Amino acid sequence: MNKYDVIIVGGGPAGVSAAKASAKTGARVLLLEKSPTIMANKPCGQAVSQETLQTAEVKPDPTIVLHRAYALVYAPNLNYVKIDRIGFLIDKSRFLQYIAAQAAEYGAEIHVREEVLEVKVENDAVKVKTNKNKYETSVIIGADGYNSTVARSLGINERSEPIPTIQYVMVNCNVKYPDAVRFFLGNNVAPGGYAWIFPHSEKIAEVGIGVRGAPAKDYLDAFVKSFSDEFGRAQIIDYRGAPVPIGGIINEPIRDKTMLIGDAAGMVIPLTGAGIHSSIAAGLAAGKVAGEAAQEGNTSKERLSEFYTLYKPWIERIKKSLKVMRALEKMNDDELNLLAEILNDQDILDLANGLDLVRVARKLASHPIFAIKLVKAII
Ligand SMILES: Cc1cc2nc3c(=O)[nH]c(=O)nc-3n(C[C@H](O)[C@H](O)[C@H](O)COP(=O)(O)OP(=O)(O)OC[C@H]3O[C@@H](n4cnc5c(N)ncnc54)[C@H](O)[C@@H]3O)c2cc1C
Repeated sequence: MNKYDVIIVGGGPAGVSAAKASAKTGARVLLLEKSPTIMANKPCGQAVSQETLQTAEVKPDPTIVLHRAYALVYAPNLNYVKIDRIGFLIDKSRFLQYIAAQAAEYGAEIHVREEVLEVKVENDAVKVKTNKNKYETSVIIGADGYNSTVARSLGINERSEPIPTIQYVMVNCNVKYPDAVRFFLGNNVAPGGYAWIFPHSEKIAEVGIGVRGAPAKDYLDAFVKSFSDEFGRAQIIDYRGAPVPIGGIINEPIRDKTMLIGDAAGMVIPLTGAGIHSSIAAGLAAGKVAGEAAQEGNTSKERLSEFYTLYKPWIERIKKSLKVMRALEKMNDDELNLLAEILNDQDILDLANGLDLVRVARKLASHPIFAIKLVKAII
């Protein structure tokens, strides 16, 4: 009764997607989530692209999408570039529940309030101990977030470099651009990261910050204070923080009978810290490979490494975005201001997402500062 082909730990974007994809192969699948509900269990800006919904096979339905959003990216001098591509502010909890429902339709079993305490890989199977039960599985997928119990239990100590983040949900705001997600760069605003305002409406907004080597809360409070026209009368109704892995994918996320995906393995776009789309893509790839491998009876590292082939476009994007992040983190505010004058919306999207770096590099190559500082670093 307690034997499965694939056990997935964690019901975030990576885990629900892995459950869906592995159940779709016909495998016997169990998804374990320690919280009482499949929902957004940690703070999240909930901003996604149209492609994210397509990858997840979720329609932009009003029960899931709060509103369509464009983006404004602010340089330190508060000049901004508008990015008009279609994006959405979503209700992440409903979004995850929708994918969990798809997984259940394919036959995945889902247990909430069940925390995985220990995982042991033995010759014939993986043994999983939870707060309620013991299981055996052919493949274990650790989709349990940055502080992964699966990784720790298996002695995998490598972690992607984290950036600490804090986010407030604020009410009684007077948001100036209720349909825009706004990103603010600059060493005075958010050293080594950025601050954001993601509104649900004119009255409610998520306001957050990620910084490196500096106290995040002090910087967030100063940021909020500097927008007295928008937040002067606002109240905080939710105050949480969490690390975001922005140092790229760990060296060995796939081993015999074991796969680590999503935040647990650093599968996040480094420059933006966006991890919903990359985690869903990782879940779909890992789930498919694990489900098929388990039913074939070959769950070796070599067989499970087919994951790298399916996930290759994302591996490339994450690597390239990391390069851009490393180059930008050395720039001062004057250089960032100048960059915002030179780059257009498509350039910023490509740089941030690790897409067509060669095209952007060609554009910057004739500029005396960026030819040396940026172009060399990103190609
Ligand atoms: C403040 C903040 C804002 C963000 N904003 C955005 C954004 O706007 N857009 C975007 O794309 N990305 C954003 N991200 C990143 C994004 O939230 C993550 O990259 C993404 O959620 C990772 O998904 P995951 O499934 O790998 O892990 P998680 O979402 O962390 O899910 C892990 C799940 O595992 C469960 N779990 C943990 N341990 C156990 C255990 N032992 N047993 C059982 N269950 C367990 C947890 O309860 C949780 O449900 C943001 C992150 C932060 C911190």
